Amino acid sequence: MSEISQALAAVRDRVAAAARVVGRDPREVRLLLAVKAQPAHLVRQAIGAGAELLGHNRAQELVETAPELADLPHEMHFIGRLQSNKATKVVPLVTCVQSVDGPAIAQRLDRLAGRAERVLDVLVQVNTSGEPTKAGVAPEEAAGLAAAVGALPHLRLRGLMTIGANSTDVDVVRASYERLALLREEILAGGAAGTGEARELSMGMSGDLEVAVAAGATMVRVGTAVFGARPA
Ligand SMILES: *Cc1c(COP(=O)(O)O)cnc(C)c1O
Repeated sequence: MSEISQALAAVRDRVAAAARVVGRDPREVRLLLAVKAQPAHLVRQAIGAGAELLGHNRAQELVETAPELADLPHEMHFIGRLQSNKATKVVPLVTCVQSVDGPAIAQRLDRLAGRAERVLDVLVQVNTSGEPTKAGVAPEEAAGLAAAVGALPHLRLRGLMTIGANSTDVDVVRASYERLALLREEILAGGAAGTGEARELSMGMSGDLEVAVAAGATMVRVGTAVFGARPA
């Protein structure tokens, strides 16, 4: 077994163990491989080892590396800050944009998806930690943005995404993930048009995926635990 397939198996084991601890079915949690800064041959190896879902957080890198993966079956999500002028190139390359953080980018994505005669899956990114460096809509504004996204004809709201608190205090990290789970319940209970499928909780990374799974993550985004430290 290659190093990458061993690391991938180890991450799947971590997810499964974390799910079982809280009585969840491990199959409820998808693994998204965050491939930023990784050379194409390693990403290809990971796909060969069974990674089906990948995520890029830089538009430029996504565009540049997409041709090198085009012959391999995989699903690609966009998970980083998305500037309006980059959206044109990103939309044709992804099935989901996880980082919708305001009405302007939502409207832009809706227009682009409409022009391509398709429906684009999206997640609303919420800044659950309140850290000023983090992207995402404020928790108080999440339900409003979800309703606005739900009203757009070419976007399908699939749930919420967050980047956990950057803290060594596990209670602080847990609180940020539990906040996202509560917001999902609020949105589903609110019943706004187009929000009924907003069940995904994309949360948890290499260092804290167990905490996220315990709080209800349906998708964890993992990079370094599979690839090792990122090249500079
Ligand atoms: C890089 C990245 C991850 C993965 O982080 P690791 O600590 O390497 O597992 C997850 N989510 C986003 C948005 C990222 O940019």
